[in-house]
Amino acid sequence: MSVSDLDWNAFSALPTESKVTFFAREDGFPFHTLFAQQFDRLLLDRLGGLATQIRTVAKTKSGMLFLQGLLGHKRAMLYFSQPSSRTFLSFYSACQILGLKVAEVRDRSTSSEFKGESQEDSIRTFSSYFDLIIMRTQEKGLAEKMAWTLSRSSRPVPIINAGSGKDQHPTQALLDVYTLQRSFERRGGLHDRSIMYVGDLARGRTVRSLSNLLMNYENIEHIFVAPDKLQIGADILEMLSAHGIRFVVTNDMRAHLPDVDAVYMTRIQDEWDERKGESAGIDTSAYKIGPEEMRMMRPDAILMHPLPRRDEISTEVDHDPRAMYWRQMRNGMWIRAALIASTFGMARCIEQYFRESL
Ligand code: ASP
Repeated sequence: MSVSDLDWNAFSALPTESKVTFFAREDGFPFHTLFAQQFDRLLLDRLGGLATQIRTVAKTKSGMLFLQGLLGHKRAMLYFSQPSSRTFLSFYSACQILGLKVAEVRDRSTSSEFKGESQEDSIRTFSSYFDLIIMRTQEKGLAEKMAWTLSRSSRPVPIINAGSGKDQHPTQALLDVYTLQRSFERRGGLHDRSIMYVGDLARGRTVRSLSNLLMNYENIEHIFVAPDKLQIGADILEMLSAHGIRFVVTNDMRAHLPDVDAVYMTRIQDEWDERKGESAGIDTSAYKIGPEEMRMMRPDAILMHPLPRRDEISTEVDHDPRAMYWRQMRNGMWIRAALIASTFGMARCIEQYFRESL
């Protein structure tokens, strides 16, 4: 069966595990990257390895010129109708590393959407001019709908979901896992670890995607720390339970801080408030990390944040070697370059160049 055999209602009703089978390339890498569930352990290891090879190759001028030659014949559209700094710029730079020419629409009021065109029609238009569409939207499921639409069209260009509503942010999860892989690689690896997520877990898409990806690693315990109103969705807990994965749901950050291997902080996502000032009424004072909390953490634990931050991590801890968020951000550019290269079937070519240039 192919996507063409299914109308949108039939397709969208499928479980995610079935949907992803339609969007894989023959070599196993995703064609469209839409959900964290598309990545298994094998792919995660290969992508992480590829990201490290790309960053090594890029250190020399000849290596950089090799990388820039790989996709110099391709064009990418960055369609970001929701605010973004890091994701936008890291995708932009990742494209540049691989030689892709990049165009962008970030402000819908400057596009024909201002004249009443639907986002679907805009994206369909981009597919006429570009070979890759990287998109971030407020609407949950739009990237998926566009992948379904384009797969049935005469220009089935790949889509990468750069954040969809409150739901998924698969490439943030890739960079988070890459950061965890690198942080623990000389300390026994990414298994038998506990990760504590703190903050707005109800509306933060990064935690949803990351907890999903971490199911690929053995014996990871998930500790969800938030005020009741901002606690993680029942669907994530059901998914972990269904896979027999250990988790704790609690309000008490300090009780778990001394035990965990990684702390993943998030900001309050008040742009999603249904009533103005709703989030401001929630007491979040117990969900912040400063020097005192760092002293409580293990000396070998790491502190992560997808950024942007507000006051949930004090700037006083930025120079602590356990603070990983700046590195996390840089890792994002390399893992996104690895993903784009793989989307276009260039993984082998880079792996071979790397081996030969050793
Ligand atoms: N940058 C992340 C996102 O786009 C986290 C955040 O905005 O808080 O979801």
